Amino acid sequence: TSFHELGLSEKTLAAVERLGYEEPTPVQQQAIPLVLEGRDIIAAAKTGTGKTAAFSLPTMDRLGRIQRGQGPLMLVVSPTRELADQIGEVCRAIATSTHHRILTVVGGLSLDPQIKQLKHGVDILIATPGRLIDLMERDAVRLSNVEVLVLDEADRMLDMGFWPQMKKIIAACPSKRQTLLFSATIDDQITKSVGSLLHDPAYVEI
Ligand code: AMP
Repeated sequence: TSFHELGLSEKTLAAVERLGYEEPTPVQQQAIPLVLEGRDIIAAAKTGTGKTAAFSLPTMDRLGRIQRGQGPLMLVVSPTRELADQIGEVCRAIATSTHHRILTVVGGLSLDPQIKQLKHGVDILIATPGRLIDLMERDAVRLSNVEVLVLDEADRMLDMGFWPQMKKIIAACPSKRQTLLFSATIDDQITKSVGSLLHDPAYVEI
Protein backbone atom coordinates (compact mmCIF):
# COMPACT_ATOMS: atom_id res chain seq x y z
CA THR A 1 0.00 0.00 0.00
CA SER A 2 1.20 3.51 -0.75
CA PHE A 3 0.14 6.78 0.88
CA HIS A 4 -1.76 7.57 -2.36
CA GLU A 5 -4.16 4.66 -1.79
CA LEU A 6 -5.23 5.68 1.72
CA GLY A 7 -7.63 8.46 0.72
CA LEU A 8 -5.58 11.49 1.78
CA SER A 9 -5.97 14.70 -0.23
CA GLU A 10 -3.22 16.20 -2.38
CA LYS A 11 -2.28 18.83 0.21
CA THR A 12 -1.72 16.17 2.85
CA LEU A 13 0.24 13.99 0.42
CA ALA A 14 2.48 17.01 -0.16
CA ALA A 15 3.03 17.12 3.62
CA VAL A 16 3.90 13.41 3.62
CA GLU A 17 6.48 14.05 0.94
CA ARG A 18 7.94 16.94 2.90
CA LEU A 19 8.20 14.70 5.97
CA GLY A 20 10.16 12.27 3.80
CA TYR A 21 7.86 9.28 4.40
CA GLU A 22 7.86 6.92 1.42
CA GLU A 23 5.65 4.04 2.58
CA PRO A 24 2.98 4.08 5.28
CA THR A 25 3.80 2.02 8.36
CA PRO A 26 1.34 -0.77 9.33
CA VAL A 27 -0.49 1.37 11.90
CA GLN A 28 -0.78 4.17 9.33
CA GLN A 29 -2.13 1.76 6.68
CA GLN A 30 -4.84 0.57 9.04
CA ALA A 31 -5.70 3.75 10.93
CA ILE A 32 -5.69 6.43 8.20
CA PRO A 33 -8.71 5.12 6.20
CA LEU A 34 -10.71 4.56 9.44
CA VAL A 35 -9.95 8.04 10.75
CA LEU A 36 -10.89 9.59 7.38
CA GLU A 37 -14.25 7.74 7.62
CA GLY A 38 -14.82 9.41 10.97
CA ARG A 39 -14.58 6.21 13.04
CA ASP A 40 -13.46 6.09 16.65
CA ILE A 41 -10.43 3.83 16.99
CA ILE A 42 -8.57 1.95 19.68
CA ALA A 43 -5.06 1.33 18.38
CA ALA A 44 -2.37 -0.79 19.97
CA ALA A 45 0.81 0.94 18.87
CA LYS A 46 4.04 1.75 20.65
CA THR A 47 6.25 4.77 20.11
CA GLY A 48 8.31 4.26 16.97
CA THR A 49 5.50 2.70 14.94
CA GLY A 50 4.53 5.96 13.24
CA LYS A 51 1.42 6.44 15.39
CA THR A 52 1.75 10.23 15.52
CA ALA A 53 1.35 10.57 11.75
CA ALA A 54 -1.34 7.84 11.85
CA PHE A 55 -3.64 10.20 13.77
CA SER A 56 -2.40 13.63 12.68
CA LEU A 57 -2.34 13.14 8.88
CA PRO A 58 -5.98 12.02 8.43
CA THR A 59 -7.34 14.36 11.13
CA MET A 60 -5.61 17.42 9.75
CA ASP A 61 -6.67 16.34 6.25
CA ARG A 62 -10.35 16.57 7.26
CA LEU A 63 -10.33 19.38 9.77
CA GLY A 64 -11.35 22.95 9.05
CA ARG A 65 -10.01 25.97 10.86
CA ILE A 66 -11.51 27.77 13.83
CA GLN A 67 -13.56 30.92 13.67
CA ARG A 68 -12.52 33.85 15.82
CA GLY A 69 -13.13 33.18 19.50
CA GLN A 70 -13.56 29.42 19.17
CA GLY A 71 -11.55 26.81 20.96
CA PRO A 72 -9.50 24.03 19.35
CA LEU A 73 -11.05 21.59 16.86
CA MET A 74 -8.48 18.90 17.60
CA LEU A 75 -7.16 18.11 21.05
CA VAL A 76 -4.28 15.72 21.65
CA VAL A 77 -3.66 14.66 25.25
CA SER A 78 -0.25 13.16 25.86
CA PRO A 79 1.38 11.94 29.10
CA THR A 80 4.71 13.77 28.91
CA ARG A 81 6.18 17.03 27.80
CA GLU A 82 8.67 15.27 25.50
CA LEU A 83 5.94 13.35 23.71
CA ALA A 84 3.76 16.46 23.41
CA ASP A 85 6.69 18.34 21.84
CA GLN A 86 7.29 15.52 19.34
CA ILE A 87 3.62 15.49 18.36
CA GLY A 88 3.71 19.28 18.00
CA GLU A 89 6.63 19.01 15.59
CA VAL A 90 4.83 16.51 13.34
CA CYS A 91 1.64 18.63 13.39
CA ARG A 92 3.61 21.78 12.55
CA ALA A 93 5.22 20.03 9.58
CA ILE A 94 1.77 18.97 8.30
CA ALA A 95 0.40 22.46 8.95
CA THR A 96 2.78 23.86 6.35
CA SER A 97 0.25 22.35 3.92
CA THR A 98 -2.99 22.61 5.91
CA HIS A 99 -2.34 26.00 7.57
CA HIS A 100 -3.69 25.00 10.97
CA ARG A 101 -2.56 26.91 14.02
CA ILE A 102 -0.86 24.57 16.47
CA LEU A 103 -0.17 25.10 20.15
CA THR A 104 1.56 22.82 22.63
CA VAL A 105 0.80 23.44 26.31
CA VAL A 106 2.83 21.53 28.87
CA GLY A 107 3.73 21.96 32.51
CA GLY A 108 6.98 23.57 33.54
CA LEU A 109 6.55 26.52 31.20
CA SER A 110 4.98 29.77 32.36
CA LEU A 111 1.22 30.01 31.93
CA ASP A 112 0.84 33.56 30.65
CA PRO A 113 2.22 33.09 27.11
CA GLN A 114 0.10 29.94 26.73
CA ILE A 115 -3.03 31.83 27.86
CA LYS A 116 -2.24 34.65 25.39
CA GLN A 117 -1.78 32.22 22.51
CA LEU A 118 -5.02 30.45 23.37
CA LYS A 119 -6.79 33.83 23.23
CA HIS A 120 -5.46 34.37 19.71
CA GLY A 121 -7.03 31.06 18.75
CA VAL A 122 -5.63 27.64 17.93
CA ASP A 123 -6.98 24.92 15.67
CA ILE A 124 -4.97 22.12 17.20
CA LEU A 125 -4.03 21.91 20.85
CA ILE A 126 -1.53 19.39 22.19
CA ALA A 127 -1.45 19.19 25.97
CA THR A 128 -0.34 17.26 29.00
CA PRO A 129 -3.25 16.47 31.38
CA GLY A 130 -2.19 18.55 34.38
CA ARG A 131 -1.52 21.73 32.44
CA LEU A 132 -4.72 21.38 30.44
CA ILE A 133 -6.80 21.06 33.62
CA ASP A 134 -5.02 24.11 35.01
CA LEU A 135 -5.94 26.12 31.88
CA MET A 136 -9.54 24.84 31.98
CA GLU A 137 -9.87 25.92 35.62
CA ARG A 138 -8.64 29.39 34.67
CA ASP A 139 -11.20 29.54 31.85
CA ALA A 140 -8.33 29.98 29.42
CA VAL A 141 -9.42 27.17 27.12
CA ARG A 142 -12.81 25.96 25.94
CA LEU A 143 -13.18 22.43 24.64
CA SER A 144 -16.74 22.79 23.36
CA ASN A 145 -15.60 22.90 19.71
CA VAL A 146 -13.42 19.80 19.85
CA GLU A 147 -14.30 17.54 16.92
CA VAL A 148 -11.42 15.10 17.31
CA LEU A 149 -9.97 14.02 20.66
CA VAL A 150 -6.74 12.02 20.61
CA LEU A 151 -5.63 10.18 23.75
CA ASP A 152 -2.03 9.21 23.17
CA GLU A 153 -0.24 6.58 25.25
CA ALA A 154 -3.42 6.10 27.26
CA ASP A 155 -1.93 3.20 29.25
CA ARG A 156 0.92 5.41 30.38
CA MET A 157 -1.47 8.17 31.41
CA LEU A 158 -3.45 5.68 33.51
CA ASP A 159 -0.22 4.33 35.05
CA MET A 160 0.78 7.88 35.93
CA GLY A 161 -2.52 8.34 37.79
CA PHE A 162 -4.11 10.72 35.29
CA TRP A 163 -7.51 8.98 35.08
CA PRO A 164 -9.33 11.72 37.10
CA GLN A 165 -7.88 14.40 34.81
CA MET A 166 -8.65 12.37 31.69
CA LYS A 167 -12.27 11.97 32.77
CA LYS A 168 -12.62 15.72 33.30
CA ILE A 169 -11.05 16.49 29.92
CA ILE A 170 -13.21 13.97 28.07
CA ALA A 171 -16.34 15.29 29.82
CA ALA A 172 -15.50 18.85 28.72
CA CYS A 173 -15.44 17.78 25.05
CA PRO A 174 -18.71 17.50 23.12
CA SER A 175 -20.24 14.02 23.23
CA LYS A 176 -20.55 14.18 19.45
CA ARG A 177 -16.87 13.92 18.62
CA GLN A 178 -14.38 11.48 17.15
CA THR A 179 -12.08 9.82 19.68
CA LEU A 180 -8.77 8.19 18.77
CA LEU A 181 -7.20 6.12 21.52
CA PHE A 182 -3.59 4.97 21.25
CA SER A 183 -1.97 2.70 23.77
CA ALA A 184 1.10 0.45 23.80
CA THR A 185 -1.06 -2.35 25.15
CA ILE A 186 -4.83 -2.80 25.09
CA ASP A 187 -6.07 -4.60 28.18
CA ASP A 188 -9.15 -4.61 30.42
CA GLN A 189 -7.91 -1.60 32.34
CA ILE A 190 -7.99 0.43 29.10
CA THR A 191 -11.17 -0.93 27.51
CA LYS A 192 -13.21 -0.68 30.73
CA SER A 193 -12.15 2.89 31.53
CA VAL A 194 -11.26 5.08 28.56
CA GLY A 195 -12.46 2.55 25.98
CA SER A 196 -15.99 2.66 27.36
CA LEU A 197 -16.22 6.36 26.44
CA LEU A 198 -15.70 5.70 22.73
CA HIS A 199 -18.44 5.24 20.16
CA ASP A 200 -18.40 1.88 18.37
CA PRO A 201 -14.60 1.87 18.10
CA ALA A 202 -12.69 0.02 15.40
CA TYR A 203 -9.68 -1.89 16.72
CA VAL A 204 -6.28 -1.43 15.11
CA GLU A 205 -3.66 -3.98 16.03
CA ILE A 206 -0.29 -4.36 14.37
P1 AMP B 1 6.10 7.75 16.27
O1 AMP B 1 5.73 6.30 16.45
O2 AMP B 1 4.93 8.57 15.84
O3 AMP B 1 6.79 8.30 17.48
O4 AMP B 1 7.12 7.84 15.04
C1 AMP B 1 8.40 7.27 15.09
C2 AMP B 1 9.33 7.80 13.99
O5 AMP B 1 8.98 7.26 12.73
C3 AMP B 1 9.33 9.30 13.83
O6 AMP B 1 10.67 9.74 13.83
C4 AMP B 1 8.70 9.54 12.46
O7 AMP B 1 9.27 10.64 11.81
C5 AMP B 1 9.00 8.26 11.73
N1 AMP B 1 7.97 7.88 10.74
C6 AMP B 1 6.62 7.91 10.93
N2 AMP B 1 5.98 7.45 9.84
C7 AMP B 1 6.92 7.12 8.93
C8 AMP B 1 6.88 6.58 7.58
N3 AMP B 1 5.73 6.29 7.00
N4 AMP B 1 8.05 6.38 6.96
C9 AMP B 1 9.22 6.66 7.57
N5 AMP B 1 9.33 7.17 8.82
C10 AMP B 1 8.20 7.40 9.50
